Amino acid sequence: MRYRPRRRRKINSDEPKAFYNGRPIRFPREHAYINPEKFVNKAVVQEDQVDFVPQHNFRDFPLEDRLQLNIKARGYTTPTPIQDAAIQPILEGKDLIGLANTGSGKTAAFLLPILHHLRQSPDHRVAVLVVVPTRELATQIDEEFKAFAGGLKLYSAVCVGGASINRQIAALNRRPQVVIGTPGRLKDLIGRRVLRLDGIRILVLDEVDRMLDMGFIRDIRFLVAQLPRERQSLCFSATMPREIEQLMRKLMVNPVTISVKTGVTSEFIEQDVIRASSKEQKIEILDGLLRQPDFEKTLVFGRTKWGVQKLANRLSALGHPTEAIHGNKSQPQRQRALRAFKEGRVKVLVATDVAARGLDIPGVSHVINFDQPNTYNDYIHRIGRTARAGKQGKALTFVSN
Ligand code: AMP
Repeated sequence: MRYRPRRRRKINSDEPKAFYNGRPIRFPREHAYINPEKFVNKAVVQEDQVDFVPQHNFRDFPLEDRLQLNIKARGYTTPTPIQDAAIQPILEGKDLIGLANTGSGKTAAFLLPILHHLRQSPDHRVAVLVVVPTRELATQIDEEFKAFAGGLKLYSAVCVGGASINRQIAALNRRPQVVIGTPGRLKDLIGRRVLRLDGIRILVLDEVDRMLDMGFIRDIRFLVAQLPRERQSLCFSATMPREIEQLMRKLMVNPVTISVKTGVTSEFIEQDVIRASSKEQKIEILDGLLRQPDFEKTLVFGRTKWGVQKLANRLSALGHPTEAIHGNKSQPQRQRALRAFKEGRVKVLVATDVAARGLDIPGVSHVINFDQPNTYNDYIHRIGRTARAGKQGKALTFVSN
């Protein structure tokens, strides 16, 4: 018999150097080991940062007066880097790839020129489709749309899973110009012949990398196949792996690419670990931390829906008004919890990774990883919920003793 040497798997340097009987111990992928050193980092002092100087004022863009007023009323005085660079090419009708994450101001970067286009077009059919990975992001975009669209007679419908489909059907029957939705529900509505995409003139795919992570690629291909070829396509993604690049190349014609590096990065986030040997000890430490005055708005991450709910109940019982968001909660419940946290009525929000994706919550002072994230990428997404809008934030991760 021919001797075939056994191929040895390369050991990732992040994996533990733990051995049993001379063989390395592997950790299952879903609980991949992340070297705790990766959770430690001192924040860059902000004074070192060079201030961004925009090339435009909002007034420089040919947006009508009412829209300019709405921008002002929303409290936006100067464009963020993505707005500064993207609004003009979108107004010119170009396809665009925006490498930007939540927190960069990308929503207004695409909504403002879209509102302008809509005001220019005489018909009142559904003209814009915005596809996003999560219900929360859809709601956030819709809120921003409504703020900018005040007095412009332009309307939107949100079509997301986990909410009443009948209400969404009723909203679509009112013929909004903008439909914002998650891929699965949009597909469902097309299947029921309530939504048609042949009138769409502008497509926005937001957080494309998340949508792919969440397994929406086939749904996206399905949606794109229903669209007319003659359209403007705008894609936003925080990262650009090959798969996304290929997808975008098929979707777009000569796109302008804008990369925004000045967004929130983990450099602004002071990161550290807390050692604890049991769940009880973690709760005890967390209780102590939440009593400190600088823990103004704390987002706590847990691994499972049940664990998250139990932890929220426990923290409430300890005297910390706490809300929870996870997949077992209905959409209105999640929205209520989120609002209470955003408005500061509760200081603690406990969430699972999926529930917290893409959330934009101003002023989160601390992110605490009660349970460790599954991957380092999840860790980056989690801690990105703090240190937004140029502020500094802290991220603490419990690791075992
Ligand atoms: P986004 O990345 O679109 O989710 O926006 C992140 C946050 O920045 C949101 O709370 C926006 O309301 C806010 N924002 C966006 N553009 C501006 C601006 N030009 N000035 C002030 N705040 C902004």
